[in-house]
Amino acid sequence: MEDCIFCKIIKGEIPCSKVYEDSNVLAFLDIGPVNHGHTLVIPKEHHKELKDIPDELLKNVIVAVKKISSAVKSGVSCDGISLNMSNGEEAGQVVPHAHVHIIPRVKGDGLKLWPQNTYEDGEMDKVCGKIVTFLNE
Ligand code: 5GP
Ligand code: ZN
Repeated sequence: MEDCIFCKIIKGEIPCSKVYEDSNVLAFLDIGPVNHGHTLVIPKEHHKELKDIPDELLKNVIVAVKKISSAVKSGVSCDGISLNMSNGEEAGQVVPHAHVHIIPRVKGDGLKLWPQNTYEDGEMDKVCGKIVTFLNE
């Protein structure tokens, strides 16, 4: 897509610190890292969100995420890795080209994951049922 910043990175129009590339996938350092080594993994084809990525391509992306996560962990000697993928503006997606964040974690780095809510009695099964309905369609 012409005005997509990540497509411009893929085309080499915007520079990046490239970590990994194959015919389907590109990975590069995030310009605003949680911790050094924070890497973005993207499909080279422009798709906005997870749901838009064809399954075969998605397999390539997730396998690359696995491989790169190990290299990041060894490369920056962090304690662990968090993965994040925001889908949709409301979920915090700023760049509308699907991407997985590989975030090196160190003890006490202050990254908060999410607040935890609760269910009323019986509510959990109802919510579960609603989701399962769509899987069985
Ligand atoms: P999102 O908030 O959409 O999940 O994440 C987008 C990420 O892209 C942000 O963490 C941001 O720092 C990163 N980013 C935005 N523009 C650029 C850029 O031009 N180069 C690089 N390397 N990262 C970018
Ligand atoms: Zn794009």
